[in-house]
Amino acid sequence: MHVYLDYAATTPLDERVLKEMLPYMTEKFGNASSLHSYGRAAISVVDRARDRIASYLNCSASEIYFTSGGTESDNWALRGVVNASSLPVKHVVTTNIEHSAILSVCKELEKEGCEITYVSVNDDGVVDPSDIAAAIRDNTVLVAVMFANNEIGTIQPIKKIGTLCRDKGIPFYTDAVQAVGSIRIDVHAMNIDMLGFSAHKIYGPKGVGVLYVKNGIRCGRLIFGGEQEHGKRAGTTNTPGIVGTAEAMRLVVEEMDANNARIESVRNHFIDRVEKEIPQCRLAGSRINRLVGNADFIFDGIKGETLLTVLDMSGIAVGSGPACSSGSQKPSHVILAIGGNEEDARSSVRFSFGKNTTLEEVDYVIEILKNKIKKLRESSSLFKVVSEKGYQI
Ligand code: PLP
Repeated sequence: MHVYLDYAATTPLDERVLKEMLPYMTEKFGNASSLHSYGRAAISVVDRARDRIASYLNCSASEIYFTSGGTESDNWALRGVVNASSLPVKHVVTTNIEHSAILSVCKELEKEGCEITYVSVNDDGVVDPSDIAAAIRDNTVLVAVMFANNEIGTIQPIKKIGTLCRDKGIPFYTDAVQAVGSIRIDVHAMNIDMLGFSAHKIYGPKGVGVLYVKNGIRCGRLIFGGEQEHGKRAGTTNTPGIVGTAEAMRLVVEEMDANNARIESVRNHFIDRVEKEIPQCRLAGSRINRLVGNADFIFDGIKGETLLTVLDMSGIAVGSGPACSSGSQKPSHVILAIGGNEEDARSSVRFSFGKNTTLEEVDYVIEILKNKIKKLRESSSLFKVVSEKGYQI
């Protein structure tokens, strides 16, 4: 049996999305910037896609920009706002659990003289809005807080943060890559000024994303060249990708309640069984403020990457905290941020569930997981540490 439990890394393209996209790769292949009928056919579906996405987020179509994915949206939001400011020294407020697409841009901006405050989250993996408020200075040009975390799935108090930023007149960006598929987002009601997401996390195509920028927010260009995307983002329009993004978003929004209920019950069943049947493990991050499809566990005495490899050999695909997005061997900055030690930060494994996950698959995974963890603990160099803590296999 092959079981895919890494939906937070990417999702399969929904067949219905593929069907919508295909004509725009074959007979309707026109360049959306061309003035002839082929181009006009392309630009009209791109405009329709923009309208649809705007209606799902409750903003205007002129506020939607298509990008190459979540990473570009994050880069553009940060650099665009920082570069558009005329302040001599600019300050950005963010958190210490952001995705590397935010954190590495912050590191680059720091080298260029920008000041960054990394607000800490609590042990549940949730940021306190009053800590964000306290970090804001006279020269703050942007607050960037992710909607939901990609490793531990914790959901941030976005509306509260949006409201406090609006009151202070500071633009607020949220990386909603992990949230869009399972949380209803209303940028108007939540006071969100800028938001980024990616199609491949919502059963859409890879290599396409969205940046919403509220009209009136000053955000410069990231990519220079032609005048596509309201003259703000150059590059030949990815018509099939954009059509696919809009259709993927329509489906996740329309089917969200039913899918969330199913995914949550399968995920809860998994958490219950792991906690009952596998000793010395704990769920990382809040139980309540958590994406329905996420269960991130720390298994004492086990390296996350080793468990990932062993499970893979049994046909089970999961994500290992630090490696799930970057392929790096580094300990997870998210587990460290919620108070875990270095060992914990190397021991987390992310199980992420999607609309195709069945109870039967989950039960199969539990049986394999129990067996592999027992065996790994028996042979692990970390086992000594575990036994010293009193754990008996
Ligand atoms: N932000 C978050 C929270 C993510 O989880 C990811 C992908 O894992 C990204 C950004 C990057 O998105 P993309 O893969 O579309 O570049």
